[in-house]
Amino acid sequence: MQDLSLDGVLKLMRIGHIGLTLVVFAPVVLVLAVVGAVFAGLGLVNLGVWLLYLVLFQGLGLLFSFIPDFDIYFQKAGVGIHRGETHTVWWGIEWSIAFSVYPIVGAILSAWMWYGGELEFAQYALDCLVFTPFAFFGVFLGLLSHLLGDAMTISGIRPFMPYDDTKIAWKWFRSSNLFINFGFFFLGLLFGGVVWSGVFQGYGFG
Ligand SMILES: [Zn+2]
Repeated sequence: MQDLSLDGVLKLMRIGHIGLTLVVFAPVVLVLAVVGAVFAGLGLVNLGVWLLYLVLFQGLGLLFSFIPDFDIYFQKAGVGIHRGETHTVWWGIEWSIAFSVYPIVGAILSAWMWYGGELEFAQYALDCLVFTPFAFFGVFLGLLSHLLGDAMTISGIRPFMPYDDTKIAWKWFRSSNLFINFGFFFLGLLFGGVVWSGVFQGYGFG
């Protein structure tokens, strides 16, 4: 794809990664939706709140499905290399923790208010606590699905560097392959569309 600009290649890879992430998330969203329905049936969670968490979970995953490739701009500016630090599991863990801090702080503050006699804050504390794993794994699974996509390419990734230089490159295609990127996007729309419309309808919001 020599005729594509850097921006063009980035956009192409972005739609490929978004598609693959929707495919990876589809079965997970389906299982979590069933878990939420069971919990709601037992009176443990509010179905609407659970659905909001599921949407945020998917949203964080989609965000982190393409953010790692912004390192191309940094490389162009002379800072770091493409498929360097942002393409490691460590980077994924760091951002997963970073996004978990907010709900954890929310839970602690709410618990503190609750302890101080503001009884309605018990529910906020619980909601924040329940959301924490959604935030953590939404980011982490998004990054993992990005790494999965890049592992299929010729250039591959070194997901454990700098501690372990193991390279994963299955060399199935180039990352700028038009057919593959559009194909993943189409599959993502198909899988994501089926699962998400099923979830919204099953939850009575469709
Ligand atoms: Zn990448």
